[in-house]
Amino acid sequence: MTETPLLEVSNVTKRFGGLTANADVSLTVARGEILGLIGPNGAGKSTLFNAIAGAFPIDAGSIRFDGHDITSLPCPARCALGIARTFQVPRSFDSMSVVENVLVGALTRRPKTRAARHAAHEVLDFVGLGSRAEASAGELTPPEKRRLEMARALATEPKLMLLDEVMTGLTPSEAREGVELIRRVRDQGITVIMVEHVMEIVMPLIDRAVVLELGRVLAEGTPKEIVADPRVIAAYLGD
Ligand code: ADP
Ligand code: MG
Repeated sequence: MTETPLLEVSNVTKRFGGLTANADVSLTVARGEILGLIGPNGAGKSTLFNAIAGAFPIDAGSIRFDGHDITSLPCPARCALGIARTFQVPRSFDSMSVVENVLVGALTRRPKTRAARHAAHEVLDFVGLGSRAEASAGELTPPEKRRLEMARALATEPKLMLLDEVMTGLTPSEAREGVELIRRVRDQGITVIMVEHVMEIVMPLIDRAVVLELGRVLAEGTPKEIVADPRVIAAYLGD
């Protein structure tokens, strides 16, 4: 591939006290790709998302995004460049309406409330929550809350979406709808990294996977290569 990757994570290390949550992690993501970031609980997946989104400073390494060195940029600057994320535990403003939650994202691109509100409604339609726009976010079902997380992230008009376990807790049919939604996100030209703990759900969706174990990159490859990799099988056996 000659085109420069959208995201380049180089030798990232993040420690929490004596615990190394990410140890010398390197990976790249091509434009338009859906990358699966998988691995057992505690492998360091959410930590890597936090490092990419700028939730905290990293201890070593560097991160480049869309031609910029973002290693030391604060979160809002990374959002402005086009990085959006969802949280493993949905973080909606429960006393606000669904559309107001999305407005929080939309206002980052459109300072005028009217235009932002219009954009927020469009995004809600896109994720299938159009009819819930005026409900209070606290009333949403868990799968609806996951869609709201995605809507708020999409409203920032990202180039890269970091999805942290958006399929967790969904029924098989809800998960199928979730897969469909993520395909449509990618079809909009948005690059996606999705963290999933359960490999089966994401395998049909992703172009490539990076497997983390104990903070390190254990394996990398196509879904086919990954499921056949003895190191990956061993990492999941004790899980
Ligand atoms: P995953 O998302 O793969 O399940 P995490 O990135 O959440 O894993 O966690 C990796 C390791 O880092 C775990 O041992 C976890 O307890 C630890 N960890 C994550 N965030 C923090 C934090 N803010 N403070 C201390 N330890 C943390
Ligand atoms: Mg996690």
